[in-house]
Amino acid sequence: MNPNPYIDEDLQALAGTARRFAQERVAPGFLERDKTRTLDRALMREMGELGFLCPELPEQFGGLGLGCLAAGVIHEEIARADLSCSYLNLLSSLNGQILSRYGDPAVVGPWLRRLVSGEALCAIALTEPRGGSDAANLRLRVERSGGSYVINGEKTSISAADQADIAVVFGRTGRPEDGAHGVTALLVPMDTPGITTNRFDCHGQRAIGRGSIFFENVRVPANHRLGDENKGFVQVMQGFDYSRSLIGLSCLAVARAALEEAWQYITQREAFGQPLSAFQGVTHPLAAFDTEVEGARLLCLQGLWLKDKGLPHSAEAGMAKWWGPKLAYDVIHQCLLSFGHGGYDRGPMEQRLRDVLGYQLGDGTAQIMKTIIARTRAGRKFVPA
Ligand SMILES: Cc1cc2nc3c(=O)[nH]c(=O)nc-3n(C[C@H](O)[C@H](O)[C@H](O)COP(=O)(O)OP(=O)(O)OC[C@H]3O[C@@H](n4cnc5c(N)ncnc54)[C@H](O)[C@@H]3O)c2cc1C
Repeated sequence: MNPNPYIDEDLQALAGTARRFAQERVAPGFLERDKTRTLDRALMREMGELGFLCPELPEQFGGLGLGCLAAGVIHEEIARADLSCSYLNLLSSLNGQILSRYGDPAVVGPWLRRLVSGEALCAIALTEPRGGSDAANLRLRVERSGGSYVINGEKTSISAADQADIAVVFGRTGRPEDGAHGVTALLVPMDTPGITTNRFDCHGQRAIGRGSIFFENVRVPANHRLGDENKGFVQVMQGFDYSRSLIGLSCLAVARAALEEAWQYITQREAFGQPLSAFQGVTHPLAAFDTEVEGARLLCLQGLWLKDKGLPHSAEAGMAKWWGPKLAYDVIHQCLLSFGHGGYDRGPMEQRLRDVLGYQLGDGTAQIMKTIIARTRAGRKFVPA
């Protein structure tokens, strides 16, 4: 990894350790997990033992108290080897932050330690069948009943729906016309009676997978609430700025891996009596994409650096989230073409293409990210949804 102002010597050393682990332990199962469609729980525990999950969490919750940039460099290395596997980092970091900030310590403490040690996985359940972009318009019913909340309805397109141990669930406690202000977030153990799940047949990211979560009179104690009642959306949603920078970074790491392979391949494969690298039609697209990947990566790191400094970073996170996955898809597409017909066979290149495509939707589309950027720049009242 080239040194840059965001990545000091300690972070470079951390990235080196993560890269060795990812190459030795994660990369070998990359293709196989796409077929079996299951996460490797033993691998998850190893990641936990090495401090690769939620490294930014304070020590009181079992974390290492490192910054978000540290989480970012680990994330990159795991994603390079298998984007699906890096969901373990993403979901742990995003949900770890939500639980530690908004949960009752007596309830979330034991779960956070299990997230950090790789013994538990936490899904995030926001999207509903009626739509994901207009997220504040959600309708999952949550009613207070004595010392509990009772949940009824469906969440859909949820990553790891059928593999997660707990989920952060957003539901409506207020009136539909209250919009974002009538939403409450809850920590829900996935073995609670009344929960069922299914699994979609996804294009990519198949090891983590997606599915629906169905709630039928699911009862969770009131102390499982995250943040204030009716404020779940406004408070908890802020955590998404973090995951957006991480997602951009992870997709670009996959693009970087594809570029490295393509640069090497074109020096070895010959056409018309010369290596492919002799043709500008082959090298210039790769050179242009290489430039953009370097630039986009720095933007993602800037988002994490701003977060570590406690400074606003919503615009940078939105930029990272729409640009990273889109650019990565275009880069891998070009790399695949550089490999000729061989790139089209089932294998790492086409799997990377399928994997990164998911992030052009998951966690919000490019249109929604651009609206967030526009609101940050022009002011919310001038940019309606
Ligand atoms: C791989 C993957 C993983 C996911 N993981 C999760 C998860 O873990 N948890 C979770 O809650 N959800 C998850 N999702 C769901 C994801 O967040 C939604 O798919 C996304 O927010 C878009 O919602 P939608 O699919 O309902 O599309 P819609 O909201 O129906 O939008 C359809 C199209 O219209 C566009 N559009 C909508 N409104 C506007 C507007 N105002 N201006 C311009 N264009 C607009 C959208 O950009 C999109 O292209 C995942 C999705 C994928 C593909």
